[in-house]
Amino acid sequence: MTRFARRVEQVSISGIREVFEAAGEDAINLGLGQPDFPTPTHARRAAVEAIEAGEADAYTSNRGTESLRAAIADKHARDNDLAVDPENVIATAGGSEALHLAMEAHVDPGDEVLVPDPGFVAYEALTHVAGGEPVPIELRDDLTLDPAAVEAAITEDTAVFVVNSPGNPTGAVQSPADMREFARIADEHDVVCLSDEVYERMLFDGEHRSPAEFATGDGVIVVNACSKTYSMTGWRLGWVTAAEERIERMLRVHQYIQACASAPAQYAAEAALSGPQAPVAEMRETFERRRDIVLDGLESMGLTCPRPQGAFYAMPAVPEGWVEAVLDRGVVVVPGEAFGAGGAGHARISYATDTETLREALDVMAEATAAVR
Ligand code: PLP
Repeated sequence: MTRFARRVEQVSISGIREVFEAAGEDAINLGLGQPDFPTPTHARRAAVEAIEAGEADAYTSNRGTESLRAAIADKHARDNDLAVDPENVIATAGGSEALHLAMEAHVDPGDEVLVPDPGFVAYEALTHVAGGEPVPIELRDDLTLDPAAVEAAITEDTAVFVVNSPGNPTGAVQSPADMREFARIADEHDVVCLSDEVYERMLFDGEHRSPAEFATGDGVIVVNACSKTYSMTGWRLGWVTAAEERIERMLRVHQYIQACASAPAQYAAEAALSGPQAPVAEMRETFERRRDIVLDGLESMGLTCPRPQGAFYAMPAVPEGWVEAVLDRGVVVVPGEAFGAGGAGHARISYATDTETLREALDVMAEATAAVR
């Protein structure tokens, strides 16, 4: 019998793909986790120019080019009021690699990682890959993560807790008071607060604050990416920022699994971060309009849905059989269980699709709702 590593046997292929495949090609797909916008032209052009000038042929520094890391530091000063030294940044292959580095550098076999439930699927999977034990933390009714629940779950084995705001699959945004608490918990308990902020700029209500703004120690690691903000999921460019010692440990892993982030993507990212931000504002406004359409639609069906304040997902509570009834009628949504046991009885609806298609899909959902009630 073929022998595989136990760590990997605990990881399953994301349930989201299976739903897509079951639905067939003509289905309306509201299962996607990527913006339906083009990458800003100035970002594309910067990559093309770097390629044509022969500047993107070789490895860059392991951490990423100096100019990209300076642009990332500027971004944190501008958007987060955070002084980040470019030396404390590693450019990665998307936010995914950044999360992987943080887990590999901080989680030993048997260590516990507290993950929001429902939460983004990678947190649990990457915990297993690092040999750790994911511990699901149930969310509040408004689908935010309660700092008190995190603190109560900390044991002597806890290495990391994950915060994700705006959240996938929930669209929920943590309050500044929560973020301050997460920073305090990291400081007081000497555990890592891994803050995944990839949807930071897709914010409609509330305020985005990073726990890193409140930390007095070095416990907060911030992950971000160009993927969602600049509709650059295919470019694979993200980053991690943390205190020097943590960066040094993450660099040990990064240099062997990746060497450096893709050079053309680094040029595109630098231009995206330091160039005009109008495309981000336009995308945010469009998502906000769609959020309202989806919320109105769900409300008129009598479904309860906490008002998503960011990202591009809504997560209503749905009756039994609803996801299947919607799928049977040709609309793909993701069952909440795909994001953890706490997602049961919910569905994730992505509104990264045009208004007309969205309205069509909502009509189908209304029909399905009537059928399963
Ligand atoms: N974090 C969250 C919450 C996500 O939803 C995603 C992608 O869906 C990622 C991280 C990973 O993003 P990237 O494409 O930059 O690897």
